[in-house]
Amino acid sequence: MHEVTHFRLEASPRVPEALERLDELANDLFYSWNHGVRGLFARIDLPLWQKVEHNPKLFLRRVAQERLDEASEDRAFLSEYRRILSNYDAYLEAEPGPEVVEKLDPDTSLVAYFCAEFGFHESFPIYSGGLGILAGDHCKAASDLGLPFVAIGLLYQQGYFIQSIDPQGQQVARYQSHSSDELPITPVEKDGELLKVSIPFPGRTVVARVWEARVGHIRLYLLDTHTTENNKEDQELTLQLYGGDESTRISQEMLLGIGGIRVLDALDFKPTVWHINEGHAAFQILERCRQTMINGLSFEAALEAVAAATLFTTHTPVPAGHDIFSRGLVHHALGTYLKESGLDFEKVFALGSKTGGDTFNMTSLGLRGSRFHNGVSRIHGSVASVMEGEIWPQIPASENPIGYITNGVHVPTFLAPEWSSLFDIQTPAWKSELRNPEFWTFVDSIPDYHYWSVHKALKQQMGEFVVEQLGRQHVRNGTGHSVTERMTRQLVSPEKDTLVIGFARRFATYKRATLIFSDLERLERILTNPDQPVVLVFAGKAHPKDSPGQQLIKVIHDLSMHPTLMGHIIILEDYDQAMARRLLSGVDVWLNTPEYPKEASGTSGEKAAINGALNLSVLDGWWGEGYDGSNGWAITPRDTGLDPEFRNEEEARDLLDLLEFEIVPLYYDRASQGYSKGWVERSKNSMKSIMPRFNAQRMVMDYVERYYCPASGQGKKMAEADGAVATELAEWKQRVRNAWPGVSIRVQGCVECRCPFDETVELRVEAELNGLTADDVRVECLVTPECTGSHESSGPDRFLLEQEEQRGETTVFSARIPPPYPGLQTLRLRLYPYNDSLSHPLEMGAMLWI
Ligand SMILES: *Cc1c(COP(=O)(O)O)cnc(C)c1O
Repeated sequence: MHEVTHFRLEASPRVPEALERLDELANDLFYSWNHGVRGLFARIDLPLWQKVEHNPKLFLRRVAQERLDEASEDRAFLSEYRRILSNYDAYLEAEPGPEVVEKLDPDTSLVAYFCAEFGFHESFPIYSGGLGILAGDHCKAASDLGLPFVAIGLLYQQGYFIQSIDPQGQQVARYQSHSSDELPITPVEKDGELLKVSIPFPGRTVVARVWEARVGHIRLYLLDTHTTENNKEDQELTLQLYGGDESTRISQEMLLGIGGIRVLDALDFKPTVWHINEGHAAFQILERCRQTMINGLSFEAALEAVAAATLFTTHTPVPAGHDIFSRGLVHHALGTYLKESGLDFEKVFALGSKTGGDTFNMTSLGLRGSRFHNGVSRIHGSVASVMEGEIWPQIPASENPIGYITNGVHVPTFLAPEWSSLFDIQTPAWKSELRNPEFWTFVDSIPDYHYWSVHKALKQQMGEFVVEQLGRQHVRNGTGHSVTERMTRQLVSPEKDTLVIGFARRFATYKRATLIFSDLERLERILTNPDQPVVLVFAGKAHPKDSPGQQLIKVIHDLSMHPTLMGHIIILEDYDQAMARRLLSGVDVWLNTPEYPKEASGTSGEKAAINGALNLSVLDGWWGEGYDGSNGWAITPRDTGLDPEFRNEEEARDLLDLLEFEIVPLYYDRASQGYSKGWVERSKNSMKSIMPRFNAQRMVMDYVERYYCPASGQGKKMAEADGAVATELAEWKQRVRNAWPGVSIRVQGCVECRCPFDETVELRVEAELNGLTADDVRVECLVTPECTGSHESSGPDRFLLEQEEQRGETTVFSARIPPPYPGLQTLRLRLYPYNDSLSHPLEMGAMLWI
């Protein structure tokens, strides 16, 4: 048979002069959070807009000339177009607020933010899940706040995979290439030529191209290797996000870390703070050390200078989320680079190895190469402190330098436009009050019927969306329309207004997507009660190499096809940001059942809450702080020491108890008004308590105050006088490390004592400092009450002991302290190395107790 070759031709229109700034709007990710801009494209040609999956650049290439011409003569359209443009211009012209300028003056400061994935919008598929969306939200909020900020990432031609679920419930992963001209990016030029950076790889040099994405006020630069200077294999290094093998991964990370710094350099950016978001980007530390060493600093001094200006954020306690490379792989991949850079392999390897180990952990590199570190919720902060505690071996985990900032979500991106219109009517100032909890009590003043009608409208849109998605899935799988109809009958029944529960996220096993099925008989009874039916909607991708994760998809798919459950369980394929926005704003309850304490933060529940959905979740991650007893439902995790199967059973029973005895009855407790007053009250509690605390502006301002501002200050101090302070600090640390094994302390005098509450006690400590002086250390007394009684205590009270005398080799420290508590109290004495130039008093990880 004769094969016919098809050639494709794309006839692109010319954008009429009256609409010429549409191009500009298509090239600024401002569209990813501004519904007005997206509305313009949708209005020109809705079916095409949906067909191109909300991609403005692709839309402008494919739209018919006559549609554009019509729009350019349509007065109503033109006036909307002008209104949107003037909003856009006003956004770009806005100056940063005083709280930003005070802490990070744009004239003298710049934050450089590195991440392996960025999730801005479904039209820009270079993200896989929570980490990417969070990075996108961070950039968007940085733009809103007018922060001096630049971001670095990688451009993956194929991004993450596209998921379908076949008739047997198997996940099928498909990759699709995206050409750069259909993405909201432009090639970066320098001196009239395309900017390229090169990075030494084993036996060759890899060249990366550079792309710029506009995100309102800020810029994101992306590197990719798809260029003819590279051999075929290297051209594919940036093909897929989290694809390939270990060697692909380490190569991608060299591009991101080392290449990323070279891009900033070539473009003459001078960051004063460096934020490494997850271990993937930690190699930037090496490249910055190399640069600093050119000025004559030792590796140790360069590391002090680099680390002082760096924040490292760790994002998961799950081992698979941390890159661990073998010594051989690191030696092979980095060898050429290190040799050319004059960096010593053993010293570099030590930064990434756990004590004595033969593997290299990117998280350890991130932590040792930074002086500021955080987890992403209160619970995760303490879990990470324990997990990474050996970096500060003598410091109790609760005191080591890992802090936390709880993740938040970008409200303009994830709040449904229907809610923002309602807020606009109620109180137009809401957009500038996102961090003000008192302000948000205004939600209570929205009339219940009005509040519920917005939710109901969004729920209906969600229902229609599910019908359409499911229809496509089942037609392709040959199961046809009748199945879709049966599956969605409950969901779209307006007279029943069925309770809908959503669960959508990556199918990683620790998220326990199937926990709710633990007692199937009981669940079936709850879901299929004809008077009070319940529908569960699931969606999510499992990593192509994660077969247990894919098995979960199959289990849910099979249950959804089960005759008695059909219509009560739905699973949708290809979860992305567009689907997230629909589901999160349309469901009544958002379910999350992670295995404590593995959900570092989670953010989808926050997105659901700001849209009025109620969270039903294990008290882990952000919900550990968000739940207040009246704004959703909580499952208390069982002790982690128990048998996992027993834990699952217990927590599943709590889940079904809540569902059967509280959630379903409350939802269906409708009087004549057609909705439940109790439900609306809870939903309002949720919206008003969560909106001002878990949004990305609050998160980014926390980063500014707690980390960016101090790191910028520390970095500048270290850099003074060609790194003199860094050099002194590095030498001091070496002196301390050498002396430390010979340092000892003992107490002198009373160990058990009594005194009247209004007098003072004297404490005396003798120390052998082994060559260090009293100025090199701190001696501290911590006091905690044995029994607090009615007395509130917030951690131990601290008293410093001063040097009293020197007796030969012995230094005596003393203090007179008033007993801070009435009655019995415990005193603990300790000594640790201290220097004014440290970023954190305990960063050396050394401490002796009596
Ligand atoms: C918010 C979001 C996530 C993160 O979900 P969590 O499981 O709550 O962390 C993942 N994917 C998409 C598309 C999202 O919008």
